[in-house]
Amino acid sequence: NKVLLAVKNLKKYFHVSGGILKAVDDVSFTIKKGETLGLVGESGCGKSTTGRTIIGLYEPTAGEIIFDGEKVNHLTYEGRKKFARRAQMIFQDPYASLNPRMTVGDIIGEGIDIHELYTGKERMERIYQLLEMVGLNREHANRFPHEFSGGQRQRIGIARAMAIEPDFIIADEPISALDVSIQAQIVNLLMNLQQEKGLTYLFIAHDLSMVRHISDNVAVMYLGMIVEMTSSAELYSNPLHPYTQALLSAVPIPDPNVERKRERIILEGDVPSPINPPPGCRFRTRCKYAMDICKEQTPPLKEVGSGHFVACHLFNK
Ligand code: SF4
Ligand code: MG
Repeated sequence: NKVLLAVKNLKKYFHVSGGILKAVDDVSFTIKKGETLGLVGESGCGKSTTGRTIIGLYEPTAGEIIFDGEKVNHLTYEGRKKFARRAQMIFQDPYASLNPRMTVGDIIGEGIDIHELYTGKERMERIYQLLEMVGLNREHANRFPHEFSGGQRQRIGIARAMAIEPDFIIADEPISALDVSIQAQIVNLLMNLQQEKGLTYLFIAHDLSMVRHISDNVAVMYLGMIVEMTSSAELYSNPLHPYTQALLSAVPIPDPNVERKRERIILEGDVPSPINPPPGCRFRTRCKYAMDICKEQTPPLKEVGSGHFVACHLFNK
């Protein structure tokens, strides 16, 4: 498969009182067409800012976003519209992102109107079709968001994103706010839509268990940087970065027959402020393997095995 999205040396800095908050600090990755990259890290690590910068809600401080071979330019009206026609975002809190005064039909129809895809009877048919596509039904079109459960609201958010027939979706913690019993349903819906439509996803989550089944590749972020990136299978069986190992130790092992016992690693130490981060490895204040070099040099994200990238001096030989 060819690469649909390439993010190159992306930086997003915010000027705040006290200095520069380096929310995203030199992040690069690619996602192939039809695949999912899971982007994982604790809150404040820059994963949402990465998603929001790609979609154009923030202007990048530096770096490039290449979509389907072309540089994305959010600064011009034409550039924004062209990208918005193919890329959509799904948010963590579907309720906050749905206008309470609009009917579900009109919420879903907004993208159809903006991009002038259908009008009149065809538009209504398309809205019904989208509702059914996400497991709701046509009677729901005349209702308002508050009449729905959290899981149903996320289905509405997905229908709204699907309305323009996008190629690429950024899902920013789409299941974090939902009951555990509902989470798998939404992940399954997203996976089915991906299969049917050949969609490409950037799936953002704060813990590794949530991205396991949907991701082809996973990137782990810590304080604005990617510290490990590889295939999903490799990451779960052979995590190398001490931070990934700690995150993974909190994920229950799904197969009770697995012999290997995973010891829960409790992270100690303070998370340094992302404002004016000190030089060296940003994880060093919590890392039990920290060495002298970790204070002085930021470890580069280096390929240590086929397609397995790690930013840690233990592997930077
Ligand atoms: Fe730990 Fe050093 Fe590796 Fe950072 S570079 S994760 S401090 S060993
Ligand atoms: Mg977030």
